[in-house]
Amino acid sequence: MTSRLVPEAPAAGFATNQVQHGFTPGAAHRTAVPAIHQTAAYEFASLAEAADLFALRKPGIIYSRNASPTQTILEERVAALEGGASAVAVASGQAAVAVTILALAGRGGHVVAANQLYGGTVDLLQDTLDDFGISVTFVDQDDADAWRAAITPQTRLLFAESVANPIAQVLDIRLVADIAHEAGVPLVIDNTVGTPYLVRPGEHGADFVVHSATKFLAGHGTSLGGVVIDQGSFDFGAEPERWPQFTRPFPRFGDLVLWERFGIGLAFAVLVKSKYVHDLGPSLSPFNAWQILQGIETLDLRVGRQSASALTIARHLAQHPAVAQVHHPGLTGNQWHELAQRYLPRGVPSVFSFDIAQDDADAADDIGRVAQVIDGLEVFRLVANIGDARSIVAHPASMTHSHLSSGQLSAAGISPSTIRVSVGLEDPADLIADLDRALAPLIPTRSAADREDVRHYA
Ligand SMILES: *Cc1c(COP(=O)(O)O)cnc(C)c1O
Repeated sequence: MTSRLVPEAPAAGFATNQVQHGFTPGAAHRTAVPAIHQTAAYEFASLAEAADLFALRKPGIIYSRNASPTQTILEERVAALEGGASAVAVASGQAAVAVTILALAGRGGHVVAANQLYGGTVDLLQDTLDDFGISVTFVDQDDADAWRAAITPQTRLLFAESVANPIAQVLDIRLVADIAHEAGVPLVIDNTVGTPYLVRPGEHGADFVVHSATKFLAGHGTSLGGVVIDQGSFDFGAEPERWPQFTRPFPRFGDLVLWERFGIGLAFAVLVKSKYVHDLGPSLSPFNAWQILQGIETLDLRVGRQSASALTIARHLAQHPAVAQVHHPGLTGNQWHELAQRYLPRGVPSVFSFDIAQDDADAADDIGRVAQVIDGLEVFRLVANIGDARSIVAHPASMTHSHLSSGQLSAAGISPSTIRVSVGLEDPADLIADLDRALAPLIPTRSAADREDVRHYA
């Protein structure tokens, strides 16, 4: 195996890595901060060098579809934060999930995935990847027997989110990783909601970690991006017949065998870049890579503050007479509270949801009541995003998860009266006052005086 493209993480703390890792001032003008390399292509020193780069004989950057120096810093930094060996950054989280599954599943491959997934991932798995001959079985992520029973000889990966949304189910990562490894396949974890500050799935057995960097990694809601991290733990050489994309000669590179040339921790990234990103083109722009790097520098500060605010708000909502249920695993009594304590010792993510109380006299009008609450909010914004500095609210059943069947919705724990929140960086008192104001008309007691009382409920 050759040296890794990604250096070992320095013996530095999380915050030092999130601000500095992967960037060494010293290029051209010694910029103190990573520069935006806004160029489509890179000049070769000679034709011999060009030939070496095209044949993967030498590492280097040819064209911005595959890489840019700004993107490389982002990849190294996210790999360091996740404790991984290498990473590939792409145009969106959706692209990161897609290229990861394409690279692992191959033709005719099968995926076992959790029921509790981001709606876009469900669409990708059951619709677009189906067109490519890749099939999927969805299982309840808490049901170990269901995971085992769904695995077939064609299964090439297990897929789940560390913390799902909107219900905030916490995955028992170790349990599912062990099931994957017994079957000789890797576990892929979408850690978008978890973030490497709160949980590093690789430490619990996950082999690949994907992110929508659009969300918490960037944190500012300005730029799309995605990253896949190879933890360097899965050995595709152990069963070479099962993984021909790594172990057989790759004709486009003069019959190079990726596993022999690049090995564990790097071959996957080379395959993703040189085949899937190269051929399909979901490239990250240097500008967006730079934007995401700016966001990552404050990841721990933001996520720590957002998680603390979210827990305060969840506790408040749990006492509120217009709220039937709060789905926040930081609350005692929540079904995933113990898993949260095990996997999320620094705090639970700030994306959670609550169900507004039903009106027994008018059960049919749940949607009207949800609309009344959402349209009554002034500080929370109705936006299809999470992880932003701004607090955001969404209605999964008619927005992010509207493509799911009613069976899939209930399997994911979502009801028509479920409202998702993503708590931002505003003052928690303002956020609580906003929710109280919007929920006040729903309080079962119809007298205005009582309503006023509850508005100041704390
Ligand atoms: C948003 C999101 C994605 C998709 O990411 P984009 O950057 O929007 O393409 C994937 N997984 C999860 C959990 C997400 O929240």
